[in-house]
Amino acid sequence: MKTLNVLREEFDSNLLYIEEDLLLKYARDETPGDYHFVPDFVFLPRNSREIVRLVKVAKKERIPIVPRGGGTSRCGGSLAVQGGVVLSLERMQKIIDIDERNLILEIQPGCITGNINGFLSEYNLFYPPDPASIDSCSIGGNVATNAGGPRCLRYGLTRNYVQGIEVILPDGSKEFFGGKLEKNATGYSFLNLFIGSEGTLGVITRILLKVIPIPPFSATLLTPFNSLKDATNAASKVLALGLVPSALEFMDEDSVCATIQNSEKKIPFKDKGTFLIALIEENSREDVLRMSEKMGEQFLEYGASDVFIAEEKYQQEKIWDFRRSISEALDHTGTIIPEDIVVPRSNLPIFVTYVKELEKKYDTAIYTFGHIGDGNIHINIIKREEWNDGGEKLITDIFNKATSLGGRISGEHGIGFTKKRFLHFSRTEKEIELMKGIKRGFDPFNIMNPGKIFDLKGGI
Ligand SMILES: Cc1cc2nc3c(=O)[nH]c(=O)nc-3n(C[C@H](O)[C@H](O)[C@H](O)COP(=O)(O)OP(=O)(O)OC[C@H]3O[C@@H](n4cnc5c(N)ncnc54)[C@H](O)[C@@H]3O)c2cc1C
Repeated sequence: MKTLNVLREEFDSNLLYIEEDLLLKYARDETPGDYHFVPDFVFLPRNSREIVRLVKVAKKERIPIVPRGGGTSRCGGSLAVQGGVVLSLERMQKIIDIDERNLILEIQPGCITGNINGFLSEYNLFYPPDPASIDSCSIGGNVATNAGGPRCLRYGLTRNYVQGIEVILPDGSKEFFGGKLEKNATGYSFLNLFIGSEGTLGVITRILLKVIPIPPFSATLLTPFNSLKDATNAASKVLALGLVPSALEFMDEDSVCATIQNSEKKIPFKDKGTFLIALIEENSREDVLRMSEKMGEQFLEYGASDVFIAEEKYQQEKIWDFRRSISEALDHTGTIIPEDIVVPRSNLPIFVTYVKELEKKYDTAIYTFGHIGDGNIHINIIKREEWNDGGEKLITDIFNKATSLGGRISGEHGIGFTKKRFLHFSRTEKEIELMKGIKRGFDPFNIMNPGKIFDLKGGI
């Protein structure tokens, strides 16, 4: 009650939601399952000055602050698991500037990622990272999670495009890390520390993004295989030959069928099978055709039953739309436990085959799909009601296998709330202690997104 009065005194009612029906809208994110945490308040700033004021009050009153972009986290990252304020960046969506000489876009964090390329196309420029949630996630959330996407195979992750960020630190001070610089060797990189820190170190309030010229010509290959093993082997072999497309994605046959069934999206093949989807982008049509043919031939040699080459933009978009619809389609198949494993590319065939074999052992469906070119596979497990351990044994089998193959438990979704108890699979005790030390250095009162990535003793 005291906290409410303090916040009410400090802020206009149009900045602060306290009505229950409004709070409920921020009680969930896109994490499947029973993760529902109603925040005490929702704060909707229009600029960084208002965020500074909030953070100063929160520090004094020890109120947790949970930064929130599009709320598309798959691991509970934007949930107020310890109550407090959800700080939604949804009103900060401005594109501030395009610097055509330095090829840098300056943008507010709440901008929906999918809107960026619409703006840039007028300048014949583009921003490559393309998470499948592109139409609902925010660029601030992408920076906070170091988001990936199909095109990151050739162009790199969000991290590779963030040149600078303005942040509000947990003591209420405003800092700017990075700049319009191609190089910077002046001590520790706070910029890189913030990228992927999942809102635990501060609030990102302005972003400088590197942009590049639009690749003028493209084609998309859709390639069905009769066996999962052939498809994963083909992907790994083609990349080892040095044929690197902009994107190389994979959908197992069950994912293909479930997407057709639950999303009514159309594909050009009657026989389904496991799909590889490749995006080829080059500077001339001849190069695109040459690369498409070469890659198609290799796929056929390694067991593809057919190769469909889409050149028209609308055909290509149809295929990518099909690929992007998987997660939503699979949400209709039952309660999903989503995993996001990354292993060295060459170990993917062994890893995916192992995961599919667990279907029998645990008598459930396991869908696998994702960024095969990066070695990053999404695994959607259907949770059985009768499992007393909530699927923990099955998840542990997957994590153990991934670890034994040199992998990690998250390639792009992050750790957030739901994965923190598994962090030790991928980071040593020493590493976790070091991370906690960094967190304490920035945020001694643990007000910034507490209860995410790891727990801190003595934190609020
Ligand atoms: C259908 C679907 C497909 C997806 N596909 C992909 C994919 O291909 N690749 C991928 O990487 N991810 C994917 N995701 C996961 C998710 O979209 C990404 O993690 C995305 O980057 C989250 O952005 P957001 O704006 O929704 O952030 P939120 O979910 O709102 O927040 C995510 C984390 O970032 C923090 N945060 C948000 N904004 C800020 C800020 N301004 N300052 C500080 N911290 C902040 C939050 O506190 C939280 O910890 C997918 C999710 C869905 C539902």
